[in-house]
Order: sequence, then structure tokens, then C-alpha cells
Amino acid sequence: MRLLITNDDGILAHGIECLCLAAEPLGEVTIVAPDREQSATSHSLTLHHPLRPIKRGERRWQVDGTPTDCVMLAIEALMPERPDFVLSGINHGQNMGEDVLYSGTVAAAMEGLSLGVPSIAVSFAGGDLRADVSQLKQQVSVLTPLLRRLTSLPSFPPNTLFNVNLPPLPAHEVKGVKITRLGRRVYSQSVAPMKDPWGREIYWIGGGSISWSGEPDSDFRAIQDGYVSVTPLHLDLTHYDVLQGAANWWHDL
Ligand code: MN
Repeated sequence: MRLLITNDDGILAHGIECLCLAAEPLGEVTIVAPDREQSATSHSLTLHHPLRPIKRGERRWQVDGTPTDCVMLAIEALMPERPDFVLSGINHGQNMGEDVLYSGTVAAAMEGLSLGVPSIAVSFAGGDLRADVSQLKQQVSVLTPLLRRLTSLPSFPPNTLFNVNLPPLPAHEVKGVKITRLGRRVYSQSVAPMKDPWGREIYWIGGGSISWSGEPDSDFRAIQDGYVSVTPLHLDLTHYDVLQGAANWWHDL
């Protein structure tokens, strides 16, 4: 089995190292990852300058681009054969609810899926990675059996990516795996006004407090209860309920 691994925290991040350790027992790993932090770049593609991949070892490339660039470059140019799966992560921080719309980690899996490769995004729902890095490393033992299961399903569901979040717990305290739906999260006071060194008004997006709501089967609830959350996602954003109700909106036009 050929596995393409990427992330949005950059090729030097602890998380991608852990994902490689978790995936290596399953097959041949190729890493194509950004050369620097690309979190919250979503599904952006670099069109206005060329990309320059630098080989960092056997089947290991760093790219001066986004996670989406990395997946596209890997599949269409760098890998001699197409991967069987794209794995993205382990992201330093959760990707639950609306986070998936901003996340470079999830976008890399979306790009894999767009190119016809089954894909899995993995995030660690720890807050402060400097404090939680030992817990992040312990997730390898949780992740290997989960990835083995997901990559050997009798039939990987078509047009689907899995969004996996790992709870910030020591491995032996993880209670199990739950299949979930996306919950809702609310950031408040996430735009911080401040002054630049010349006293001019500037704003920094980030920080603030995060609250969430979600059904008992939501990703947030699973993580809060100490489970690994696995949410199946697809790329079709069509709102089907509205589509049905809207069929007669233009009858009299
Ligand atoms: Mn990230």
C-alpha cells in the first residue's frame, strides 16, 4: 500500500512525524509537505509563482506551497505511482465543526479526494502543543490500528474523506472510537484590536474563547467524552433540503 502524507503545520512539525510513525507499519510512506506553517490556509492553491520541491530524503519532499499544492504536486508530478491513500496531519489542534472550512489539514484530504484518492485527515485536539507533545506522541499507538481499519474497509465509501480528531489524553485513557457528525463551534472575541509600534490601530485574528454546541453524536461531544472522533465528510456543499423547497420559486417569472 502506498501512502502519501502531508500536513499544514510544516514538514518539521511533531505531528507529521507521529503520523509517519503511525502509518509506516501499513505501507510505503511518501511525505510531501509544506516547508513552513500553513495552518488555516484552507484549500488555497498557489497560482502566481512556481513551486520548487526540495528533496529531503528517500520519498520525502518539502514544498514552498500550501497543503493543497503539496497533494497536487505529489500525485501529478513527484510520485512515480499514485498513492492508495492520502493522510494529512497530525494537525496541532482540533479540526471540528466549522474548523473544517478553514483547515489546511482537512483541505489536503479534500484535494486527495478531488484527485480520486481516498483520504483521511487527522488532528490532535490538544490545546497547548508544547505541554501536550508527549500525549501527541502517544497517539501513534491509537492511530495505527485506526488507520489499519480505515484503509482496509471492504469498500472505502466513494466520494468520502474521514476527518479524525484525537482526544488530548494519554493513550491508555482513550475510551474508543465514535463515528460522529460535525458540531458547531463559536469563537468569541476572536479579533483582537491592538497598536503597532507606531501607535496605529491594527487587528489580530486569533485567541478569544471557543464554545461549542452539538448533538450527542457530534465530534465535539466525542472528544469531550474521551473518544476518537471519526466524521465522514464529502465535498458536495449543496443544501438539498432548500433545493427541494425551491423548485417552484420561479414558476411565475
Ligand atoms: Mn495546522
